[in-house]
Amino acid sequence: MSVASPEILIWFALLLGLCVGSFLNVVIHRLPKIMEREWRGQCAELRGETPDTNPPLSLSRPRSRCPSCGHAISAWENIPVISFLLLRGKCSGCGTPISIRYPLIELGTGILSAFAVWHFGWQWSALGALILLWALIALAAIDFDTQLLPDSITLPLLWAGLAFNLHGVMTDLTSATLGAMIGYLALWSVFWAFKLATGKEGMGYGDFKLLAALGAWLGWEMLPAIILLSSLVGAAVGIGLIIFAKHGRHIPIPFGPYLAGAGLIALFWGQVLTQRYLGLLT
Ligand SMILES: [Zn+2]
Repeated sequence: MSVASPEILIWFALLLGLCVGSFLNVVIHRLPKIMEREWRGQCAELRGETPDTNPPLSLSRPRSRCPSCGHAISAWENIPVISFLLLRGKCSGCGTPISIRYPLIELGTGILSAFAVWHFGWQWSALGALILLWALIALAAIDFDTQLLPDSITLPLLWAGLAFNLHGVMTDLTSATLGAMIGYLALWSVFWAFKLATGKEGMGYGDFKLLAALGAWLGWEMLPAIILLSSLVGAAVGIGLIIFAKHGRHIPIPFGPYLAGAGLIALFWGQVLTQRYLGLLT
């Protein structure tokens, strides 16, 4: 059995993806809380009050607990997907249902990781694809929950994209640098045009940074496809929500999940898509 045996690698990527998905659940759940606590601490400091004395919260500490009864989650209750099935989706302490989103994120991360390794083969680009897709999953879920795209993910993702493309892993360095610049400026201009025209803020600065990161990874050539795909899906979902779910027009709809989804499509099928539409133009 050789180390480069693709089938073994794909199974390994699936298992790795399941475990990373489990970690992403912690990031999605805790990172917004950690950020909120930091902001509160800074505000308290500015007002000259004593800072928060609660025990420190980080991604690794304290251990995960059931939000209803405080039951500490043991190692066997923390196996991706399998524990959820064994526990039949309920806390072993109090029987409160566990959100189906936890195993879905684990399963989704596992399957996409296996697909990435199968799609890119035994190459540096497979590692790049894994990093990008893990970050996109976390960002999409955090933005969906809180309408925030944390700088602590988007900015390192941007630098990592440029670093990978120093050696042309996903695209050449010129295309990656232009991608980061144009990605940021494109949404920044839309933001200001919208704000000057309507007086409202249509999206957040996190969206610009996310598109800049996608440009840094995939190159400027992918940006039109990403913007088009995310706007189409975003508009369809937004109109659907307003019509069918009586979702108020003034309630913000996060744009990050659509950008992340479009980024994933561009990661796997961007080359084919751009060749098609460039082919249609010429
Ligand atoms: Zn419980």
